[in-house]
Amino acid sequence: MNLKDYIASIPDYPKEGVIFRDISPLMGDGAAYQEATRQIVAYAKERGAEMVVGPEARGFIIGCPVAYELGIGFAPARKKGKLPRETIEVDYGLEYGSATLTLHKDAIKPGQKVIICDDLLATGGTIAATIELVEQLGGEVVGCAFLVELNELNGREKIEGYDILTLMEF
Ligand code: IMP
Repeated sequence: MNLKDYIASIPDYPKEGVIFRDISPLMGDGAAYQEATRQIVAYAKERGAEMVVGPEARGFIIGCPVAYELGIGFAPARKKGKLPRETIEVDYGLEYGSATLTLHKDAIKPGQKVIICDDLLATGGTIAATIELVEQLGGEVVGCAFLVELNELNGREKIEGYDILTLMEF
């Protein structure tokens, strides 16, 4: 199975000159979703992950089945104002303006080995902010797993030194 066959490419979305990579055909196919999950589960196991963190919202789609399969916990990193209890927060830059990502203060135990999952690595801003949240709580980021990496945006450079798995590159 070639997982790339399940990624739709939409030219000029959300704006002209951008090719949006849509993972929903992959999620919509049971065998493809299962295969992608299997590969990330194998990686998470190899890295010794004890906890999964996923940034809103597609990080949940990738991270939750991995946590379930490994029998470990999942913590959602969410936009400011969405988590009901005490949180820590990190501001990060977006193409236009900035955003704030938060994590519940008790989401990660000090020393816990964490894998971060998201659908796609673009500029690396989202993953860098998520790493910072996990580390603020004393967690150790043992790996970062994505379905898709957009090579020309060099997101990898923003998280140099961290272990990265990407299942597909464009
Ligand atoms: P980054 O912070 O620039 O690395 O962007 C990654 C975040 O933006 C991920 O959480 C993605 O869900 C989202 N994203 C950016 N570009 C795309 C795309 O082409 N397809 C799907 N999601 C994208």
